[in-house]
Amino acid sequence: MNNEFVGREACPGCDATTTREIYRTPYGDAPVKPYLDAFYKGVGKIDHARLAGSDFALSACDDCSLVFQNEIPSGALLEALYEQMINPGQAFDAYENSYDVRFYVQLERHVEKTVRFLNKNPGELKLFDFGMGWGNWCMFVQAFGCETYGCEISETRAKHAASRGINVVAYDDIASHQFDMINAEQVFEHLARPLETLRYLVSALKPGGLIWIGVPNGGDIRSRLERDNWTTDKSSAESLNAVAPLEHLNCFSAKALVRMAECAGCELLEIPHRRLQSSRWAMWRHRVETKMKQLRGPAPSGDKYEGMTPDLFFRKKA
Ligand SMILES: [Zn+2]
Repeated sequence: MNNEFVGREACPGCDATTTREIYRTPYGDAPVKPYLDAFYKGVGKIDHARLAGSDFALSACDDCSLVFQNEIPSGALLEALYEQMINPGQAFDAYENSYDVRFYVQLERHVEKTVRFLNKNPGELKLFDFGMGWGNWCMFVQAFGCETYGCEISETRAKHAASRGINVVAYDDIASHQFDMINAEQVFEHLARPLETLRYLVSALKPGGLIWIGVPNGGDIRSRLERDNWTTDKSSAESLNAVAPLEHLNCFSAKALVRMAECAGCELLEIPHRRLQSSRWAMWRHRVETKMKQLRGPAPSGDKYEGMTPDLFFRKKA
C-alpha cells in the first residue's frame, strides 16, 4: 500500500474486529486497471501513478456482513479523484444533462410521498440532503415549501446548488441544526467512516426524526465476486459496481445497513420502500420478487432481511 491509501482494521459499519479479507488484486494490472480506464472514460482520466504499488482489497465483517475496501484512498486522493480525475464539468454533461423527463418525474414522486409520509404541512418541515450532489432533491423539496438544506463535499457541486437557491451547510455546522428528516441517497457507500458519520447525522435529527439511506444493493456481492466479471455493464446481474474501486468503499446488504443504523441509535421503520416508489416498474418488480420468494421457500440462512434492498427509512430512537 502506498501513502495515498490508508488501511482499515475494524468494520466501518459496526466497529467489530472480526473481519476477514476476501479479495485482493493490484491496482496496476488487469482486471482493475482496464476497468478504471473504461469506467471513467468520458468523464475524466485516472492518474495511475498515484495508485502504483497499492492493491484493491476487500474484507467482510463476520458480525454485520458488510463488505468493505480495507485499503482506502486518503482524503487528498479522494479530493483529487472527485475534483480533478473526474472532471466536474464533464460529469455534469454526462449525467445531469443526460436525464430525460422520467428521472425528474420519479424524483418528484419520491419527494411527494416522503413529504406526505412525514404527515405535517410542508411549511412546518425542515429537511436536509446529505451528499446533495447538484441539488436536485433539494430543488423538489423546496418547491413543496419545506425549509431545505444540503451538504456536499464537492465544491463545484455545492456552488451549483447554492446558485439554485439551496441553503448549503458546511459539514461541521450540520450538528447545529435539528431536522425532521435527512436524505442520504447513494452516499454511505462512499464514506471512509460510515458509522461515525451516521452517528453525527443522527445528532442533527429532532427526537423521532427520520433518515432515509439508499445504497447500491450489495446483498449478493460474494457470489458476484466469485464470478469476477469486471467488464460487464453496470446494470448486469454480475456487475461489481457495488464495490467499485476507489469510490464504493462500503458494500451494504440490508442486514448490514440495519445493523449500522442500530449502532447509531436508530430503528428500522417498517414502511415498505415500494410504497415510496409509485412507478409501474416498482409494482411489477415487487410482484416478481414476491413470487420468486414463494417459489424459493423460506430463506435457508434465516436472514430476516433476505430479499430486502438496502434503501430504507430509519427513525431516531427516543
Ligand atoms: Zn460489521
